[in-house]
Amino acid sequence: MARYHVKITGKDYDAMADLVRKYKVTVARHTVEQPKKGGYTVDAHATSSQIRQLKAAGYSVRQREDVDKQGKARQAEFKKATKSRLAVARTMVRATRAGEGYLDVEAVEAALAAAAASPNDTFTQLITLPHQTWEGRVCHALKIGKGNSSTRPGIYFLGGVHAREWGSPDILINFVQQLTQAYRTHSSVTVGSKNFTAAKIKKVVEEKDIYVFAQANPDGRRHSMMTASMWRKNRRPAPAGHSGASCVGVDINRNYDFMWNFPQFFDPAAPVANSTDPCHPEIYIGPSAISEPETKNAVWMFDTLPHVRYFIDVHSYSESILYTWGDDDNQTTQPSMNFQNPAFDGKRGIANDTVYREYIPSADRKLAVQLANGMRDAIKAVRGRVYSVQQSVGLYPTAGTSDDYAFSRHLVDANKTKVLSYTIEWGSPDNPTPFHPPYSEMKKIIQEITAALFDFCVRAT
Ligand SMILES: [Zn+2]
Repeated sequence: MARYHVKITGKDYDAMADLVRKYKVTVARHTVEQPKKGGYTVDAHATSSQIRQLKAAGYSVRQREDVDKQGKARQAEFKKATKSRLAVARTMVRATRAGEGYLDVEAVEAALAAAAASPNDTFTQLITLPHQTWEGRVCHALKIGKGNSSTRPGIYFLGGVHAREWGSPDILINFVQQLTQAYRTHSSVTVGSKNFTAAKIKKVVEEKDIYVFAQANPDGRRHSMMTASMWRKNRRPAPAGHSGASCVGVDINRNYDFMWNFPQFFDPAAPVANSTDPCHPEIYIGPSAISEPETKNAVWMFDTLPHVRYFIDVHSYSESILYTWGDDDNQTTQPSMNFQNPAFDGKRGIANDTVYREYIPSADRKLAVQLANGMRDAIKAVRGRVYSVQQSVGLYPTAGTSDDYAFSRHLVDANKTKVLSYTIEWGSPDNPTPFHPPYSEMKKIIQEITAALFDFCVRAT
C-alpha cells in the first residue's frame, strides 16, 4: 500500500492526540504548528487508507510525495555514487567535494579508522564497541583529545540510530575530519560565516575529550539504503509466530532504561509515541529495556566514560534542537514531582496540563537552553535557516529515549555524572524525502550541523 508524506490539520489537542492513539499515524513530533485559524498542523507519514480514514473523521490532509517511490529514487542515487566512496572516506574532507553521495555503512567505519590512524594517532583513538549487531557487525567510536586528565569534560555525539536518517553519520564524519585536520595543521575552521580559530580548536582538543559514535545502527541503515528506504528500527529477527516484514526490529530510541515500561507511567489517554507491538513498523520498544546490542553499545559509552558531561543524539527531521525532558512539560518548582515518584504513575504525558510536569532544576534548564541557542546561531550563520530550540516533549510524549536516559542517570544513581543532553533533528519537513534529502541539500545540512557541533565543543566546559 502506498505511503505518503502528509501535513495533517486537526481542530484541537484531542484530535491531534488521536492521530497517535486511534489512527496510529507516524507524526514528526516537532513540526507541530498552530495555524492562525486555530487547531494544530503536524507533518506526518500515512498510508492511503489512513488518509481516507482521517479525511472522513474531519481532518484536513495535504498529501505530498509518495515516500516509497521517492525513496527508491534516493536509493538509486546512493547506489550510483558508490564509485570511489571508500577512497574518499579514507583521505578527504568529503563534504567539501562535489558530486558525491551519502557514505555507505562500510565507508563510515573506514572514515573512523582513517581518522584514528597516523598522522592523527597522537590525539585520536579508535574505540571498539563490545556488542555486535544482530547481523554481526562490529561498531566503532572515535575519541579526539590530546592529553589525559580525569577532570576534563567529555562530550559524546551519537548518530545513525534511526536507519532511514541517512545523513547523521555523514555529519559526524565530516565533523571528525574537519576537527582532526584543523588541529593537525594548526588551522582555523570556517563554516558559512562562522569561524572557529586555530586557538579555539587547540583548546577543544587539548582540554576536552570528544567522543563520536557515528553509526549506531549499521544493520538498519544498510537495509534502508538498499531495500526499504523508510526503515527506522534495527534488524532484530521477528519473534516466533510473527512473519510480517514489519515484525523485524526494535526502535533503539525507545529501548533505553527511562520509563521504558511506559504503560505503567503514563496516563492511558496520553498520546505516547511508543508501542509494545513487535510488528509496529516504527516505535516498538523491544522485549525489555536495553535489550538491543545497539542500545547496549550507546549505554556502554556512558558507563565506560564517567567524565562525559554532555551528550547530543543526531537525528532527522524538523530543524529543531531539543533539550530535556521528553515525557511531559518541564517545571522547576516541585522536585518531588518527578519520574521516580510512583505517586504520579498513570498521570504523566498530557501536554499543557498541571496534573504532572517533569522536574528540572532551573540552573540545568538555563544552561541547556544557553548552549542550544549557541548551536542555533551557528546553524543560522551557515545559510540563514533558523532551527527552533524547544523542549523535547511537544504535544507527543516519549519514553525510553537516549536524551532523557542520559540526563536521568545521575538522578537514579547519585554516583553517576550529570549529563546534559540533546537531540538535534536536522533538515526541513519541506525537503522531498526529509529523512534522506537529495545529497545536494544534505551537503548544506552537513555544514549547518557541523557548525553547531563546533560551537558546542567550544562552549561546553
Ligand atoms: Zn530519529
